[in-house]
Amino acid sequence: MNEYDTHLVQSQLVSLGADIVPTVDEADVVLVNTCAVRGKPVEKVRSLLGDLRKIKARRPMVIGLMGCLAQLDEGQQIARAFGVDIVLGPGSLLDIGKALESSERFWALNFRDELHAHVPPPPQGTLQAHLTIMRGCDHHCTYCIVPTTRGPQVSRSPDDILRELDAQLAAGVQEVTLLGQNVNAYGVDQGAQLAGYPSFANLLRLVGRSGVRRVKFTTSHPMNFTEDVAAAMADTPAICEFVHLPVQSGSNRVLRRMAREYTREGYLQHVTDIRRHLPHAVLATDIIVGFPGETEEDFQHTLDLYDEVGYDSAYMFIYSPRPGTPSYTHFEDLPREVKTERLARLVAKQKEWSARKNAAKVGTMQDVLLRGDAHEPGFLEGHTRGNHPTVVPAAVGADRPGTYAVRINHATPHMLYGRILGADGQELPIRETAASGPQRPDTAALITPLPMA
Ligand code: SAH
Ligand code: SF4
Repeated sequence: MNEYDTHLVQSQLVSLGADIVPTVDEADVVLVNTCAVRGKPVEKVRSLLGDLRKIKARRPMVIGLMGCLAQLDEGQQIARAFGVDIVLGPGSLLDIGKALESSERFWALNFRDELHAHVPPPPQGTLQAHLTIMRGCDHHCTYCIVPTTRGPQVSRSPDDILRELDAQLAAGVQEVTLLGQNVNAYGVDQGAQLAGYPSFANLLRLVGRSGVRRVKFTTSHPMNFTEDVAAAMADTPAICEFVHLPVQSGSNRVLRRMAREYTREGYLQHVTDIRRHLPHAVLATDIIVGFPGETEEDFQHTLDLYDEVGYDSAYMFIYSPRPGTPSYTHFEDLPREVKTERLARLVAKQKEWSARKNAAKVGTMQDVLLRGDAHEPGFLEGHTRGNHPTVVPAAVGADRPGTYAVRINHATPHMLYGRILGADGQELPIRETAASGPQRPDTAALITPLPMA
């Protein structure tokens, strides 16, 4: 979401005649886009602004703070402390032009609907794009600062969304990810179907039939998940069989205290529905460990749930108390050691499952969107429809970024390795480059196909 917002502001700047430069040294204006969902990103912003202040002491420079942190008192105090000139909340990003014209300090913290205005298309040749279908959030999870920073939910009209999608397709986009804090509640804020808004499942079908090769979406709140979303995924081939369904905790007691508005049983029912429609669905989740009052027994319920679902991957977070949230005000934070010890156990569990899930892909064919060079010279990296990072040796006749059929021949918990297949289903010959090739022992292991599982 922040990348998308950065792109929005960049394109505003370009339309005002600015050039985007690669380093701070070349810049007259530096805008820092921020996340405020946990304490750590806030610390990073402080240290970055500290560095920028030093540069600004030596030469004229305009410093701007934008995004979620800018919306909070915490961010505004930081802005004052570091001599920031421009403060733009996530709902006021379009004020960037006005902000640059102003010779005074410029602060804008409104939530404006015009944000949904047409976003300029990505550069020609872009393969992957995000597409915001809604902003803000109407839930009130007790740990979460997002409703404060991003305001209430506002869905974009389907026409607006499809217009932006058309521009992305014209630029060559092959994979689009629909973005929102709670995409399953798409249109509800506008009066839903009564106002002519499709359900989220039908929006997925519309996007999936646009000619785009792959459609993904995030984030899907379990409370608003409907079986029709799983049905849409099954009946529309472009929609990837990948569901990111944040569970946060496996304990009903903790879920209640988080105000997540679903139970463990309700969540598992969604998983069953998804797998009935899509037996090969790839499931990912978000989990918070060490929520205030989480007991060892509660945490065991989270570990059990992980085994019951068998996720391919998970984002795991230590609970971070955020000033202004109900859990910050009403609950006492657990000791740091308890939280880190639980996270370590959860990470071990996740690694075990990712290893198992990835190993099961050895021998399968995957549609891989190869974006470009991997860290290893002579290799390309990309990801599958199920979002598994994948690395392949560059092959003769397949040296441009794009989507290719790949046979997976090796897996680690975090990476799949394979070979690009030609139209005849045979492996294309590896393109030898000065830096790659079988003579390099570290890459030889990747090139040699391992026995099929
Ligand atoms: N709207 C999405 C989540 C957006 S925030 C949803 O409801 O699923 C992304 C993730 O950050 C959340 O899923 C949660 O796991 C994590 N998160 C949010 N607030 C947090 C906090 N205070 N401490 C730790 N993790 C947090
Ligand atoms: Fe935060 Fe909950 Fe809204 Fe997600 S659904 S953004 S976790 S309040």
